[in-house]
Amino acid sequence: MPQNPRNQDTYDAVVVGSGAGGGTAVQVLIEKGLKVALLEAGPMLDPRTEFKEHKWPSDYDHRGAEEGGAQYFGKGKPFGFFSTTSGGWQLEGEPYTVGEGSQFQWFRSRILGGRTNHYGRMSFRFAEYDFKPHDKDGLGTNWPISYQDIAPYYDKAEEFIGVCGTQENVASCPDGKFHTAPPPKVHEALIKKACDKLGIICIANRRAIITKALNGRAPCHYCGQCGRGCQTASAYSSAQVQVFPAMKSGRLKIFDLAMVREVLMDGNGKATGILFIDKKTRTEQIIRAKTVILAASACESTRILLNSKTKEFPNGIGNGSGLLGRFLMDTVGFGLSGYVPAMEGMPHYDTDGYGGAHLFMPWWLWDQHKKLDFPRGYHIEIGGGYGMPGVGSYHGAARRYGYGADMKKQIRDGYGAAIAFAGRGEMIPNDHSYCEIDPNVVDRWGIPVLKFHFKWSDHEWRQARHMEKTFADIITTMGGRVSGLSAAQREADGISVPGTIIHEVGGARMGTSAKNSVLNGYCQSHEVKNLFVMDGASFVSNPDKNPTLTINALAWRACDYMAEELRKGNV
Ligand SMILES: Cc1cc2nc3c(=O)[nH]c(=O)nc-3n(C[C@H](O)[C@H](O)[C@H](O)COP(=O)(O)OP(=O)(O)OC[C@H]3O[C@@H](n4cnc5c(N)ncnc54)[C@H](O)[C@@H]3O)c2cc1C
Ligand code: SF4
Repeated sequence: MPQNPRNQDTYDAVVVGSGAGGGTAVQVLIEKGLKVALLEAGPMLDPRTEFKEHKWPSDYDHRGAEEGGAQYFGKGKPFGFFSTTSGGWQLEGEPYTVGEGSQFQWFRSRILGGRTNHYGRMSFRFAEYDFKPHDKDGLGTNWPISYQDIAPYYDKAEEFIGVCGTQENVASCPDGKFHTAPPPKVHEALIKKACDKLGIICIANRRAIITKALNGRAPCHYCGQCGRGCQTASAYSSAQVQVFPAMKSGRLKIFDLAMVREVLMDGNGKATGILFIDKKTRTEQIIRAKTVILAASACESTRILLNSKTKEFPNGIGNGSGLLGRFLMDTVGFGLSGYVPAMEGMPHYDTDGYGGAHLFMPWWLWDQHKKLDFPRGYHIEIGGGYGMPGVGSYHGAARRYGYGADMKKQIRDGYGAAIAFAGRGEMIPNDHSYCEIDPNVVDRWGIPVLKFHFKWSDHEWRQARHMEKTFADIITTMGGRVSGLSAAQREADGISVPGTIIHEVGGARMGTSAKNSVLNGYCQSHEVKNLFVMDGASFVSNPDKNPTLTINALAWRACDYMAEELRKGNV
């Protein structure tokens, strides 16, 4: 039983998690005048100390060499020392398990803003056909909502968080409300030329980065270091763009280092609040609220629901369908790199722009699936160019090129001649991919952990082979040669390890009834009317578009609905 409830207030809403879903919920509900409690398992964020955007490799000891430098390459910090992770594939004291015969990796952040502090900010709308996949090819399940339902919320989300891009009228990737996109870099212009020859659409990237001032945020100053966090908040993070401004209202109370264990119920089918463990005092605490919003990330919200058991809901609250945890999905990933001699020894030019690619390729064969041996599409992300060499770059150069002037010339000539492609494809949900509570393991807070089961089907494998051929075709059309396997290919023989694209969604999908789903089209529990799940758990399918913009839009739409229901006294 709770030992020390520390808060006697009752809130209009308690929001669990401060990432894309929770940050949007906080922003929208505070704008509506509600009193909100935000519970976050990680600490508060201080961008001044956490973000290493303008640090040079020379600012640090070791510069990646020897044992002391190992931290720069992911030891203790995935994606390296400079990345704004505050999390990782494994969190000390917070394990998860994986069923026999499965592979799954779960990337979690523990800090205000969650994974939005360092995500890639690729921001693509789902297409109209993405909401009705079963109608298209008889596979998977339709969403209970359509593109028309969510389109106004894509508009709102894009306008508020700021997304740059261009109007293109491509059916697989609807246009949005964009800031001006920066022009392509030289290697990207060459890639586009090859794509034009191959009939592959190649257009300006769509990233949650602003190129004109917005709500007090400065436009991008093109330092190119987005993966390290953006001190000027020119790149979206929910902490900087949504939570910090909401704090000024005086109606938002943040409980950080608050690890939520379960949703509390009143015995009459209504949620009454949240039980969490205060990490600072290791005591159990309660927050009471009229509505409960879970936005702890898809799998974590699912875990909280599965761990919330009552007499009416012995298998987890809102789980009358028995589908809680089912239809877990990740994005299909495959990568290939190439070396293009035509770009060797070019005069080095200024690669002004934001960090990462300025172009991408949306799925270009959306109306030609009958001719393909796989049912769903993918988009292509680009790597390459003259980014600042990272810590430890060219450590192996002496081994390869010897020493002296010749080594320097080889490095300079080859610099910028390497390119890379990463495919991001749709997975069709299947019965073998799900998560459940592991009955034998608890985390350091005494909370039962998740156990993952996952399987790619032939659909995904065949799609990955198409990616491989396409990337090789682009590289050779540029006059280059395929030079390297992606980590994904090395590790899993041709397809990404499930979970590693970090687009895990599903687990509490939305649908038309309490029999076929956990939530309705407003992310509201069918069975507990004042309970909402506003992260990727609600996804019915996982189109090839990265999920975060859709999480923002769905959360915004759900909050509009929830506030109105609250006003009418329906929840
Ligand atoms: C390196 C990287 C690159 C990515 N690139 C892209 C991209 O380009 N485009 C894209 O769309 N997506 C991308 N993603 C995925 C993107 O980060 C997620 O889709 C998005 O952050 C999900 O938002 P969320 O609110 O559901 O969860 P999160 O952002 O994970 O936030 C969840 C929050 O809940 C908190 N929490 C968890 N459990 C509890 C608990 N029990 N109690 C209290 N609080 C809890 C966490 O601490 C966290 O702060 C990327 C992710 C990574 C890591
Ligand atoms: S390139 Fe722009 S968005 Fe990225 S970190 Fe620098 S200022 Fe921020």
